[in-house]
Amino acid sequence: MCVCIFCQILSHQIPSIRIAESDRAVAFLDIRPVNPGHVLVVPRRHVASFTELEDVEGDQVFDLVRRVGRGLKAALPGCEGISLSLADGEAAGQEVPHVHFHVIPRSTGDGFGWRRFGEQAGRETLEATGALIRQSLESP
Ligand code: 5GP
Ligand code: ZN
Repeated sequence: MCVCIFCQILSHQIPSIRIAESDRAVAFLDIRPVNPGHVLVVPRRHVASFTELEDVEGDQVFDLVRRVGRGLKAALPGCEGISLSLADGEAAGQEVPHVHFHVIPRSTGDGFGWRRFGEQAGRETLEATGALIRQSLESP
């Protein structure tokens, strides 16, 4: 038996409130919602990192995120916006090592928010960082 909790949810060994699904992706309610209607969208295949997703999985996961987002706005009277979150790796706060997008309904003043990190960076620093990442993306 797979020890991954989301794999167990996908194989119905653990119950969940399923919202929608496609060939490669499934959406279900988070058991500890930040706001009512907080949904998790996951690939059916066990993959820890979104950078390891196949193109078709990535496409279907994000298609389902958009579909769920439309559904939340239509279904929940107080849903004025949506926050998306994906923690990739323990350092980023990922607790369940199976790719998942958090799709969180938002309303004005709901108190949920990202802490504002960061300071304005200098042009040279941004240029150097941009070059480093571009190079890695361009190399075969
Ligand atoms: P992470 O911290 O990895 O980004 O998010 C993991 C999420 O999975 C958390 O928001 C947590 O509430 C949710 N979660 C953990 N266990 C279960 C479960 O058994 N069922 C459901 N539906 N969600 C779960
Ligand atoms: Zn899994």
